[in-house]
Amino acid sequence: MKSSKILAALVAASVLAVGLAFAADTKAPAAKVAGCCAKAQADGKACSHGCCVEAAKGGDNCTKCGGAGKVEKKAEAKK
Ligand SMILES: [Zn+2]
Ligand SMILES: [Zn+2]
Repeated sequence: MKSSKILAALVAASVLAVGLAFAADTKAPAAKVAGCCAKAQADGKACSHGCCVEAAKGGDNCTKCGGAGKVEKKAEAKK
């Protein structure tokens, strides 16, 4: 049964391709603003938590407060 082997190889290859596409999609970690920082942002302020300030300096959301990933740059061009 050679053809079934080829079929299995094709299926494996396509699964691998889908997996790679998924990996490329999820490579960038989802950015999540910490709750306290989101609240401060809603008030037009920067979060005053020391840990958040430190994280923001590095362009990151504060992971201690539940944030993740990089701080999203505000798109000034779009209004
Ligand atoms: Zn904060
Ligand atoms: Zn924090």
